[in-house]
This record gives sequence, C-alpha cells and structure tokens, in this order.
Amino acid sequence: MIFKVDVSTAAFLYVMSSLIAVFALWVLTEKKTTLPKFVREEADVWECAICTYTYVDSLHREISQCPQCKSYNKKDPDERLV
Ligand SMILES: [Zn+2]
Repeated sequence: MIFKVDVSTAAFLYVMSSLIAVFALWVLTEKKTTLPKFVREEADVWECAICTYTYVDSLHREISQCPQCKSYNKKDPDERLV
C-alpha cells in the first residue's frame, strides 16, 4: 500500500508548520523586548544630614534638597569635615 499525500494536504501542512515556527519566534522575541520595560529611572534614598529625614530623589543628582528642612545634601557622604 502506497501512502499518497495529496498536494493540498502537503501544502496545508507546510503552511501550518511555517506558521507555528513564525509564532514561536514571535513569542521568543516578544519576551525579549518586554524585559527592558521593567528598568525604571534610577532613584536613591537620601538621608538629610540636618534633620535625618529620609526621602527618595534621583540618583543622578549631585546635590539634593531636603523636602522637610530645605537644606542641601551632597551625594557623597564620605567627605568629612573634621
Ligand atoms: Zn532635612
């Protein structure tokens, strides 16, 4: 017995397999592109040197102003004035 595959059946299987392959590739690339959306703007927790009030401000600033006592705080706390 010879298993004869119809031309339309073969074409249908070929289209379906290619569609599944494209869909799988689309899912993989979609997952890759959605991952960087979780990256937010870098923020850091600042602690005021005057009133010890903690607040969140941008990490890229050199000097941040305390929202409570309006005093300015430097980014690098390692600088000590002895
Ligand atoms: Zn303060």
